[in-house]
Amino acid sequence: MIPTGMQTQAKASPEMIIVEKTPRLDLIIVGGGPAGLTAALYALRSNLKTLLLEKMVLGGTAATTFQIENYPGFPGGVSGLELSQRFQEQVKKLGLEVIWGNAISLENRQTYFEILVDEKFLNARAVIIATGTEAAKLGVKGEDALRGKGVSYCATCDGPFYKGKNVIVVGGGNSAIEEALFLTRFAQKVSIIHRRDELRADKILSEEAKHNPKIYFFWNSVVEEIVGEKKVEEVILNDLHNNKRLKIPADGVFIYVGGKPNSEIVRNLVKIDKNGYIISDAEMKTSVPGIFAAGDIRVKTLRQVVTAAADGAIAADSARKYLESKH
Ligand code: NAP
Repeated sequence: MIPTGMQTQAKASPEMIIVEKTPRLDLIIVGGGPAGLTAALYALRSNLKTLLLEKMVLGGTAATTFQIENYPGFPGGVSGLELSQRFQEQVKKLGLEVIWGNAISLENRQTYFEILVDEKFLNARAVIIATGTEAAKLGVKGEDALRGKGVSYCATCDGPFYKGKNVIVVGGGNSAIEEALFLTRFAQKVSIIHRRDELRADKILSEEAKHNPKIYFFWNSVVEEIVGEKKVEEVILNDLHNNKRLKIPADGVFIYVGGKPNSEIVRNLVKIDKNGYIISDAEMKTSVPGIFAAGDIRVKTLRQVVTAAADGAIAADSARKYLESKH
């Protein structure tokens, strides 16, 4: 989706396949969102031999955010795509090597780390995990069957298909409200379904949504089922106050009920919390020396592009210090 010109296809060059125990790389960064790209920026500026591994698109979820209004330096806001392209441009100038693939496992080989990527092995003396989160599912009937047929997790990607239509947004956080506002550009009506009577989203966004004439709210309500033959036709809600079921006609359902951490590759290696987020300290060190974490994947209180970028910078600096201590 994001043309960069610096992307290397997932095929590993022969020197990336482990044949000896001396890694050619200082650092592998897993994940190319704002945390991973900023880690790469700092690592390359410290002359670390660095490789970034990404399974989908550079820029992470931020790249699919329509407008980012709280990243410093952009008083008029900036689209997520543009911001992520700027991040990429900066590391491209420094010659960042990107490998496309899915990290399947990470092993601690004591003097280095070994990452299985699809069917290849990569190794490096230090690793930064910046794999972020992926959209959580609602887990209701019809959600999987109608995915791509009206059920979506990305308004920026699919919103333009809903010109003049009725859409539903599920959730009350920043993502739900931002994307609901974005959808008003196309849809005739946007109904937000939230399980409480108060939004979790920032005040400024919440007020904007409440004053938007195209946005309607269903408070204290949960989706029970998404119904449709070939595509979404209606959503069945349960009003938690009176336990009454309600059918709402809809052409599309956009689900924004939070994220789930992509921490599978380190689950048996580093300490994680009960929700699967990596526990790390202020220097981004995890419980395993040489493995660092950055961005939304960490246990933290504020998940934003600016905090992800800050984590990336700190993680790369900590990785540099760790590598120097090993020489
Ligand atoms: P979030 O802040 O965790 O919000 C998730 C929303 O979904 C909450 O309102 C939650 O309800 C609701 N929810 C969760 N599970 C549900 C379920 N099973 N059924 C119905 N509703 C459910 O997630 P997010 O909006 O994706 O944001 C993730 C992080 O990124 C946050 O830290 C957010 O601040 C950040 N972010 C920031 C920006 C920005 O600043 N521009 C933009 C996007 C995201 P409750 O409120 O009742 O828990």
